[in-house]
Amino acid sequence: MLVAADLYHVRLPLVASFRTARSTTAVKDALLVRIETSEGFGWGECIAQIDRSYLPVNIDDCRSALRDRLIPSALNDVPIEEPTVAFAALECAVLDAELRARGESLASYLGATSEFVTAGVAVGRIDHVEEFTRAIEAYAAAGYTRIKCKIQPGRDLGPLRAARRVAPEVELAADANGSYSPTAAQKLVERLDELDLQCVEQPCGTPVPLRARNRICLDESIASTDDIVAAHAAHACDAVSIKPGRLGGLTNARIAVSAASHSGLDVLPGGMLETGVGRAALVALASLPAFTMTGDISASERYFGPDGDLTEPFVLEDGRIRVPTGPGLGVEPIPERLAACTVAHERITKKD
Ligand code: MG
Repeated sequence: MLVAADLYHVRLPLVASFRTARSTTAVKDALLVRIETSEGFGWGECIAQIDRSYLPVNIDDCRSALRDRLIPSALNDVPIEEPTVAFAALECAVLDAELRARGESLASYLGATSEFVTAGVAVGRIDHVEEFTRAIEAYAAAGYTRIKCKIQPGRDLGPLRAARRVAPEVELAADANGSYSPTAAQKLVERLDELDLQCVEQPCGTPVPLRARNRICLDESIASTDDIVAAHAAHACDAVSIKPGRLGGLTNARIAVSAASHSGLDVLPGGMLETGVGRAALVALASLPAFTMTGDISASERYFGPDGDLTEPFVLEDGRIRVPTGPGLGVEPIPERLAACTVAHERITKKD
């Protein structure tokens, strides 16, 4: 039974700004939910960002939804289930609390069997060519075996060729964040045919069939299992990026992963620059066998520096990240780190 909930808006400095075709992120803002139940506590992280450049809802929208509607319903035992970004964070916290209470890890609950997931890294747009290639070399040297480069019109083949030149042994992927028109996207994927890429992610905003040698992966277009089924039927993708926050939670994400797998699609875990809380949930999910491609799960250090995460850091071990085995998420925010990073906090209790 839910007793109370705390919402933390946290802000973590990033080691470097992260630039995509849509936005530039210099600090990581995140909304965390901590619930208290009659049996213990649980944590969840909301993937909404400070603005609506990537998702239709931002942190303030999700905080209002949780504070005014979702948490009061849960406190009053009113069943709630909705495929929203805000609900996904609460669902994770509830699941974490239940699993901690019975001593089972999230990975085990989800049906995962592997001890590690292969780490991947996403590299934002860096205009200075040498700075860009130095970043690629450094990630390859750190042990990342898959590097995804953000691309956009006018900046695609050039940076990818440069990356391939300095890191010929890594799997390279491209992510356009939907920045090409359907016509331009067809020309893009043809241009990229010369490079043997792991995939080209979300070339254009809408799922359209493209003739390409490289796999086409959809990310922004995938907000539900129905989206996966429709994209597959339209021959618009070979792979999907799974973001549990956008799919409305871990339960929906697991269903979506099964649907993708049954359709013969490859699956990769999609990152949102999560803190250790969200990262733990994504690592657990990504350890399911249906995840056939390396995705965006990096070590904490890539974004926050060696001691900058909220939780104990996720570290690279031979290019892999260890799946937490402790109860629930297996990690939780370190109190001093949480206090240092919190910019707003509110507590919601049952009103009689
Ligand atoms: Mg993407």
